[in-house]
Amino acid sequence: MTLTEQLDKLLMKVEKPARYIGGELHSVNKDLGGVKTRFGFAFPDTYEIGMSYLGLQIIYHILNHFDSVFCERIFAPGLDMEELMREENLPLFTLETKTPVKEMDILGFTLQYELSFTNIINMLDLAGIPFKSQERSESDPLIAAGGPCAFNPEPLAEIIDFFMLGDGEEILIDICKIHQQWKARNGSKREFLEEISQLKGVYVPAFYQPIYNENGTFQSMEKIFNKAPDKIEKNIVEDLDGVDFPNSKIVPLIEVVHDRAVVEIFRGCTRGCRFCQAGMIYRPVRERSRNRITEIAKNQITSTGYEEMSILSLSTSDYSEIEPLVTDLMGMCRENNVSLSLPSLRLDSFSFNVLEQIQGYKKTGLTFAPEAGTQRLRDVINKCITDKDIYSSMEQAISLGWTSVKLYFMVGLPTETYEDLDGIAEIAKNIMDIAYRVNGNKRGRFNVTVSVSNFVPKAHTPFQWCAQDTMESFEEKHRYLREKIKKIKGVSFNYHGTQTSHMEAVFARGDRRVCETLIRAWSLGCKFDGWREHFQYEKWIQAFQETGIDDNSYAFKAGNPEDNAPWGHIDCGVSKEFLLSEWKKANQCEQTQDCRHGCEGCGINQYVECRQEGTL
Ligand code: SF4
Repeated sequence: MTLTEQLDKLLMKVEKPARYIGGELHSVNKDLGGVKTRFGFAFPDTYEIGMSYLGLQIIYHILNHFDSVFCERIFAPGLDMEELMREENLPLFTLETKTPVKEMDILGFTLQYELSFTNIINMLDLAGIPFKSQERSESDPLIAAGGPCAFNPEPLAEIIDFFMLGDGEEILIDICKIHQQWKARNGSKREFLEEISQLKGVYVPAFYQPIYNENGTFQSMEKIFNKAPDKIEKNIVEDLDGVDFPNSKIVPLIEVVHDRAVVEIFRGCTRGCRFCQAGMIYRPVRERSRNRITEIAKNQITSTGYEEMSILSLSTSDYSEIEPLVTDLMGMCRENNVSLSLPSLRLDSFSFNVLEQIQGYKKTGLTFAPEAGTQRLRDVINKCITDKDIYSSMEQAISLGWTSVKLYFMVGLPTETYEDLDGIAEIAKNIMDIAYRVNGNKRGRFNVTVSVSNFVPKAHTPFQWCAQDTMESFEEKHRYLREKIKKIKGVSFNYHGTQTSHMEAVFARGDRRVCETLIRAWSLGCKFDGWREHFQYEKWIQAFQETGIDDNSYAFKAGNPEDNAPWGHIDCGVSKEFLLSEWKKANQCEQTQDCRHGCEGCGINQYVECRQEGTL
């Protein structure tokens, strides 16, 4: 019986069989005769989450454009499917051809969040591939990884053969070309890794060895292959119009988290929020042209039949031609009877006008992210919005008939005091007061949700040297806020779990030693750690104890800027000097302007022209 037939027999027994079928509109199948590189794009979470990730669609489209490359998708099976696969001894497989993953040439994981790391180990185990690169044979696939978490690759350094840093479109094509030449001459894995280590943006961890101080702290990273670069610079696609983008997305057979046509309008952000890793690692801002965006949007709608379309970026309103772009898109969507959704819009008059037109009487989904409750703390984190901005936009929203708003805040931010938490409750109360004033006798119509996440210090940000709050402190702050907010009529409160935020901090700034803990935690049963219902904190504590790793030293200890960081050899383009000066300015509550008003010297322009400088 073929693997497909064996899998088919299991499908009747699982909760969501469509996760494992493939064959969706615009998925690709190829005559294997001409294929020289079989690339498995592995998303370490379920189908529904992975299929919502635009990066997968971009890479899939770009690689499959070449006859000699076949990119297939691989997702983490749900627990029910995994149990059956293990019972029947069936290996992890690709969605397109139901080929065992072990038969891929390259298996590339995308690292979107730290809490997916145990799923990578689980997927390798299901595929029958040894976890550690040193334990794998020449016939095992090459294991690659990219995505935001690759900017601190060390927790996975013993597992991954090579990381790709930065934009993937161009580097993946180069790697596949080198792979095909190498395969044709029957080279060794070592030869392949040596060759690709010379490409910009490729990090081969086996060519570097961490050195630790006697007290166990990280000292430095030493090269053990002379020709490996001292610093690994990320890859930057300078012209987004110059790279391909899917005109026809794969259309999933079941509902996925984001199920709509989507076009990325720009990459990067100039605002410089000091807690935000994406704002640092994706610099500089690069825009896709208005014409190209509308052309892609039109093609996607026609080819997929989607009834909803969205645009994607870190901060939609910052697109230089946002008003004409939105006008174009609204017209096009109207003509095609498609609804338009515009996430991360700044709430100004233009946006309200647009939201009025696209949402009409529905008026759903108004969100706003002040992040901190006082002006002082917003200055510290460089979130340049004022109380006046918040209240005037809320007044406008309420006058225009919106009936609810979700406000996002973070607790545990550097220098935070209880006064800042009082500020969160005060903002919610003041917004309700505005609703009462504006709505008069219909005042019960409006409600506010305060949603609180926990600050996690991330590598390559000005706050990379900050200690995270202890879990007790987070819990106390949640309790305090809950009590305050429950006294305000019309306001509800929710918050993120503290244990998962703690784990995120450990792996966001972890070094190579935490890999043993990951493997041990997986062997104790940890997986899908980002899912509240599957996260098993006691098992993680056991894993830390058994592997002799002090999780608190990674999460709670403030770093010294004079010391090397485990990710110090990874160059995201933003200099350490800039991060440090931002950290000092944070401590003095000093803001840094959006660099569209003028360059602030982050350093990225030493690698690439930065076209946004001074454009405002
Ligand atoms: S180089 Fe200057 S203008 Fe460009 S992103 Fe950095 S600070 Fe902004």
